[in-house]
Amino acid sequence: MTAAPLAPQPQPHPHPAPTAIAAATTGLSKVYGSGEARVVALDGVDIAFREGEFTAIMGPSGCGKSTLMHCAAGLDSFTSGSVRIGTTELGTLADEQLTRLRRDRIGFVFQAFNLLPTLSALENITLPLTIAGRKPDRQWLDHVVAMTGLADRLGHRPGQLSGGQQQRVAVARALVSRPAIIFGDEPTGNLDSRAGAEVLGFLRDSVRELRQTVVMVTHDPVAAAHADRVVFLSDGRLVDEMTRPTSDRVLDRMKAFEARSRTT
Ligand code: ADP
Ligand code: MG
Repeated sequence: MTAAPLAPQPQPHPHPAPTAIAAATTGLSKVYGSGEARVVALDGVDIAFREGEFTAIMGPSGCGKSTLMHCAAGLDSFTSGSVRIGTTELGTLADEQLTRLRRDRIGFVFQAFNLLPTLSALENITLPLTIAGRKPDRQWLDHVVAMTGLADRLGHRPGQLSGGQQQRVAVARALVSRPAIIFGDEPTGNLDSRAGAEVLGFLRDSVRELRQTVVMVTHDPVAAAHADRVVFLSDGRLVDEMTRPTSDRVLDRMKAFEARSRTT
């Protein structure tokens, strides 16, 4: 008797850094402006994002969440400290190398879905590969598409999809080039709670099933509860961290921070 053939499994993640750290910052500082207009947006942030881990970044408006994400993703320069993606120090790269690293090793999901309106869902998903002149790994693409739950909508343009569907296309687009890390800045900020839950479920599945590393900025305790770990930022510094968060525990922690900042 022969065993039934197994369903094709996705290949292991292609960027196993020896350290198992997908990205890290050391003493990361970012100062905007000078003189009267000087703003210290990041003030010595040390953080590591482990491979296959889902991290949420939380903190009050203006505390530096977007700046941290942009600096860690090589989208923005920093004033001092260091950032690495895998074992590559971003500070050592020329502009062209940085552009290539962003394209090949980093995925992005923004609050605005940023899909191209004239392309179909499938064309949007494969766009990063098209731009890079790479052929999609068919099996991987099929797997990612299946995870979106949009197999019957692939020919639709973004305007023919709901917000949640559009953001799932954006997540699939981020996943398709198998980046070392995906950064999301408030990826559910424009969605109602049901559509948001679908997108968060998809992000979490990409971590569980594909061992994708994901870092997401959010102000929503329910969204943060989908992560493996929540880090709290305040005035450009990391002030706390929580593993295996629940929305109630995250909310309690946020309230405690607010109470403390009112008394100081
Ligand atoms: P968050 O995403 O947590 O709301 P940001 O990272 O956007 O916070 O901003 C952190 C701080 O840096 C804020 O005080 C903000 O006003 C300031 N800041 C952000 N971007 C700029 C910029 N381009 N020029 C000057 N200041 C900025
Ligand atoms: Mg922000």
